[in-house]
Amino acid sequence: MAAQTEESDTAREQTKAEQDVDQVRQRATRDQQRLDSGAVTSPKDLENLQREITSLAKRQGDLEDVVLEVMERRESAQERVAELTERVGSVQAKIDDATGRRDAAFEELDGETATATKEREVIAGAIPADLLKLYDKLRAQQGGVGAARLYQRTCQGCRQELSITDINDIRKATPDTVVRCENCSRILVRTAESGL
Ligand SMILES: [Zn+2]
Repeated sequence: MAAQTEESDTAREQTKAEQDVDQVRQRATRDQQRLDSGAVTSPKDLENLQREITSLAKRQGDLEDVVLEVMERRESAQERVAELTERVGSVQAKIDDATGRRDAAFEELDGETATATKEREVIAGAIPADLLKLYDKLRAQQGGVGAARLYQRTCQGCRQELSITDINDIRKATPDTVVRCENCSRILVRTAESGL
């Protein structure tokens, strides 16, 4: 925006400088016409007119230099605007790309959430009400994890290895007995890899 402002400022400056040149040029033309017309006859007046024409020519040259200087500044401002516009475009493209990927990730997560929610409903429907109630209570108490896998005699919920006494008790328990971790109270899920 600063570069664009500089560009429009120098554009205005250029117009003003060109108008200054025009004014001087017109006045010099008028003086020259008066001189050529032969209407001025007094030697003193003629001399004054000549002097003014010479001085106006010098003034015009100086003003034309100003125009050139302003044009150079305007050109570099235009280059800067073009360069920055390109950079804005490339940053915006990156933003658009990241936004697109984020939106796609959100969509995917929404889909996964919906699937998981549906699966949970089906599984929860098949679990006895009192066990589900216990699970939900433990889940609320234990940071969202109410049941954990028993893996190689270790509770995967609290990462504590169970004592030999607890392992022996679990070995004796029937498959439909709800066994729990002595350390974190979570429901323990027995598998072939439980180390029993
Ligand atoms: Zn545990």
